[in-house]
Amino acid sequence: MNSFEALGLNEALLQAVSDLGFETPSEVQQKTIPILLEDDTDLVALAQTGTGKTAAFGFPLIQKIESESRTTQGVILSPTRELCLQITNEMQLYSKYVKGLNIVAIYGGASITEQAKQIKRGAQIIVATPGRMKDMIGRGLIDLSKIEYCILDEADEMLNMGFYEDIKDILSTTPEEKSTWLFSATMPKEVAVIAKKFMHQPKEVTVGARNTGVDTVQHEYYVVSGRDRYEALKRLADANPGIFSVVFCRTKRDTQKVAEKLIEDGYNAGALHGDLSQNQRDLVMNSFRKNQIQMLVATDVAARGIDVDDISHVINYQLPDEIETYTHRSGRTGRAGKSGISMVIITRSELRKIKTIENIIKQKFEAKKIPSGMEICEI
Ligand code: ADP
Ligand code: MG
Repeated sequence: MNSFEALGLNEALLQAVSDLGFETPSEVQQKTIPILLEDDTDLVALAQTGTGKTAAFGFPLIQKIESESRTTQGVILSPTRELCLQITNEMQLYSKYVKGLNIVAIYGGASITEQAKQIKRGAQIIVATPGRMKDMIGRGLIDLSKIEYCILDEADEMLNMGFYEDIKDILSTTPEEKSTWLFSATMPKEVAVIAKKFMHQPKEVTVGARNTGVDTVQHEYYVVSGRDRYEALKRLADANPGIFSVVFCRTKRDTQKVAEKLIEDGYNAGALHGDLSQNQRDLVMNSFRKNQIQMLVATDVAARGIDVDDISHVINYQLPDEIETYTHRSGRTGRAGKSGISMVIITRSELRKIKTIENIIKQKFEAKKIPSGMEICEI
């Protein structure tokens, strides 16, 4: 099954695949696409970030939708607006040879009237954040009573973010006999509960070991004293002139502060966090995608699932509160088989956390020293 033809994709999709330059299906695609195309089953698929999950559900969904009918047939729930937009863009590329297919993104922080208008024109597929979806169903602007496919993307993240009740309420408005496809990087208890409660004997696909990191990523830590964190960050940037990175901070305030300082100090940096307007966030993301920003300073929530190719470094300016979040952070780099480096700036008192992370990602960290001024001059 290592060609897209062999997976059973139709001509329109094969043409799009070829335009996209995808040569062979990724492992999760090889394992899920034939199952989803063949029968109307429920499915739980576990695979790390960057393994191509969007196409794993997107291709079969597009192929199964009847584009001649305007009825809403498929719904994709995803944790953040950035991800909704990303999935929608990606799905529009996949379906560019499918006539009459409308894929609409629904998310908070943007005009509900405008989104309702798009829905009214007939959207066979809706990509939504749970909060906005629930809101629009409640106002009678969206009707899911005839959907056939419901996809829960990044289910672990949606549950982490407290969307359980919203998801439950949304699912209660959908037909019992639909197919539910759940995609997740990890399988915490909460995801297992959803699978048990809302799915019927789902088939299971697991790619790689559960809860492990992406092994194209190299992990490094740098011990500093707390007040030297910012200086250390600058040195790391100076020592890697071509750096294209996401710098993770723990709070919105620190995120804004670090980004502002970097800009003041002459770095190409930008901030991404929940206190910015949708418009500001879009602007920053666009500049980052175009490589105009080399250091995107972000909170975990804002950067969740963001898929930008060629991120060379992930820098943990501070470690996350929830150690599992580290996997999601480092998964921003080393995508599509490329190599990447995940750096942690850490104080001596936090060092034991490195062991905990090593146990989770089943990989060892390399202890490194912040390069000195002299070493940087020689670069
Ligand atoms: P995930 O949802 O698992 O994190 P994505 O679906 O966002 O991963 O895919 C990650 C990247 O890999 C995207 O840029 C996507 O276009 C690319 N990609 C997906 N499938 C393939 C493939 N078969 N060959 C090459 N690139 C692919
Ligand atoms: Mg994804």
